[in-house]
Amino acid sequence: MLVRLIYASRAADSVNAESLTHIMKVSRANNAARGLTGVLVFSDGVFLQLLEGGREAVSAVYNRISNDERHRDVMLVSYDQINERRFAGWAMGQANLSRLNPGVLLKYSERAVLDPYAMSAQATLALFDELVSTAVIACPG
Ligand code: FAD
Repeated sequence: MLVRLIYASRAADSVNAESLTHIMKVSRANNAARGLTGVLVFSDGVFLQLLEGGREAVSAVYNRISNDERHRDVMLVSYDQINERRFAGWAMGQANLSRLNPGVLLKYSERAVLDPYAMSAQATLALFDELVSTAVIACPG
């Protein structure tokens, strides 16, 4: 059984480009081994992550991630059973929002900044789809 989970969180002050690279490296290795795929967006101190995979694997990684001290205010945006993956190509893709047209954010949000705390689950998933279709996801894993 496949599920898709999306959550948002706020990065700890200590998070910088180096720690982000480390998180991505560990995530890609772990996720590939566990059949997990997805995308991690980081912008203005906010994380937005989409995870797809088996129910047990997604649940286990979400529990680990929720307890990680490198972020806080972890908020579940959506959790759904799915028939097929949308992001099968990425062990953990990273979306570079600096490459994103602000108009794309405005399409789904009140302001042209990433604020998943103020977005509906539907708009959040549509934003992930847009990130894929506009090819702003980097470093296929
Ligand atoms: P260990 O590596 O043994 O770490 C145990 C705990 O120590 C961690 O939970 C964390 O709180 C802390 N820790 C570990 N490394 C550091 C560090 N360099 N600096 C500060 N504290 C540290 N993991 C995945 O497998 N897949 C993912 O998709 C994924 N996405 C993530 C997204 C975000 C936004 C964050 C912050 C973390 C993510 N992680 C992901 C990492 C995850 O939280 C765990 O650290 C990782 O899975 C290793 O788990 P472990 O129990 O083996 O932890």
